[in-house]
Amino acid sequence: MTQPIRVRMAPSPTGDLHVGNARTALCNYLMARRLGGAFILRVEDTDAQRSDASHEEGIYEGLRWLGLDWDEGPNVGGPFGPYRQSERQDIHGEAVQQLLATERAYYDYTTAEERAAEREQQRAEGQPQRYSGMGRNFTAAEIAERKAAGVVPAVRFRADPKPVRFDDIVLGTIRAGPDEVDDFVIARGDGSALYNMAVVVDDEHMRISHVVRGKDHVSNTFRQVLLYEALGWTPPAFAHLPLVVNRRRQKFSSRDGAQWVGEYRTQGYLPEALVNFLIFLGWAPGDEREIFSLEELVREFRLERVNRADAVFDPQRLDHFNGVWIRRLDLDDLAKRAWTYASAGGLELRPDQRGYFRSALELEYERLSHLNRTAELMDFFFDDDLVPDMRQVRYRRHSAAETARALELVAGLVDATEPFDDPTLEARMRALASDLGWKAGDLFMPTRIAVTGRKATPPLFATMEVLGRQRCRERLQRALAGLAKLATA
Ligand code: GLU
Repeated sequence: MTQPIRVRMAPSPTGDLHVGNARTALCNYLMARRLGGAFILRVEDTDAQRSDASHEEGIYEGLRWLGLDWDEGPNVGGPFGPYRQSERQDIHGEAVQQLLATERAYYDYTTAEERAAEREQQRAEGQPQRYSGMGRNFTAAEIAERKAAGVVPAVRFRADPKPVRFDDIVLGTIRAGPDEVDDFVIARGDGSALYNMAVVVDDEHMRISHVVRGKDHVSNTFRQVLLYEALGWTPPAFAHLPLVVNRRRQKFSSRDGAQWVGEYRTQGYLPEALVNFLIFLGWAPGDEREIFSLEELVREFRLERVNRADAVFDPQRLDHFNGVWIRRLDLDDLAKRAWTYASAGGLELRPDQRGYFRSALELEYERLSHLNRTAELMDFFFDDDLVPDMRQVRYRRHSAAETARALELVAGLVDATEPFDDPTLEARMRALASDLGWKAGDLFMPTRIAVTGRKATPPLFATMEVLGRQRCRERLQRALAGLAKLATA
């Protein structure tokens, strides 16, 4: 029988959901869903000083927003809990004791000063700053002396000078030289485990089959492989996802774009677009397709197709995906989401205006690049006190006074046109222009400015239909009042 697929995401709640972690979560999620496995969320909060419950909540929120639901975790439970690392210290402690008992680990009484001096010397000699293992050789008397002096020991793994290797699904066989891994610290003097130790124990106890995480963890993986071996456990399969870099091939940082998923949300990106973008940070389908929903990715994603090369974070590509997804969403769905952004952006929307909002959005959504621009794009539909600035009309062929006379006729037309819809308005307005002997555009532009306050809008007559007779009428009256002032000025 093959082992069930169990994958995990193990964020440290020292911040909300980072985009890099979101990509890791996405890959794990896709694997679990395609293979009918379990996606586990384990919160690595052992660094009490830097961990924060609000960040934990932020991580959940980010994952939920992206649509990445998990099967086991701190808030949902599961058969291998607890899922918060700080609640698992006894379990880690047992494994630490096991390594101490089998002499694969030792209490190290090296002082911080000695360690600093060693590092300083290594630096001066241009050597890598690895711990020499001096603490292995203290005599019982030396240890007693140090204890008496109050030296707090650390528990270190006894790393033998031999090469370490592991097979990685993405990177192939990875090797570390015999001296690359030093005697690393696995626990504090009080027995509480540090990252590498805690991760190995938890991955083993939670029966994780595949560890899929960023390539920046490769050096940890060597240490973890040694711990599995020393504890007599079989390591899971490993897959390391490529580093995310900017266009200059440097590590992606806050100078290159927002770091937190929540920021992308605030900036008006759709979760569909971010998912689509994140998966391309390292993966490609092998053909020209580039638009994938989460469901499609569940079918398509394979770890075997993840690239080794660094993944370039290109914000323009994210914008491109966002535009595509905005135009792809069902209009009702888009309207619901855009409504939230529009209210947050300051539009005063009454609950009974949902239908009106949807109709206005139908005219505007093709020009909508980010949902947080909804308010600025659509505010003229909702501003009941809009006073059009008629100075925007460039009076070249027709003076302000002539324009006023023409708009009087437009106002009459607005009162009389039945039905008040796009084709009928267009037909009447064209007929009026020709009666006046005006070019159609010379009549349409002042009308557009009068009813919307803007020179650039969606198609005029469709816009007038959505605005409705009453708004058009009121705005034309205000425009005429403005023109009267301009004519006398
Ligand atoms: N807590 C670690 C991190 O956030 C987890 C790494 C891992 O997946 O093992 O980087």
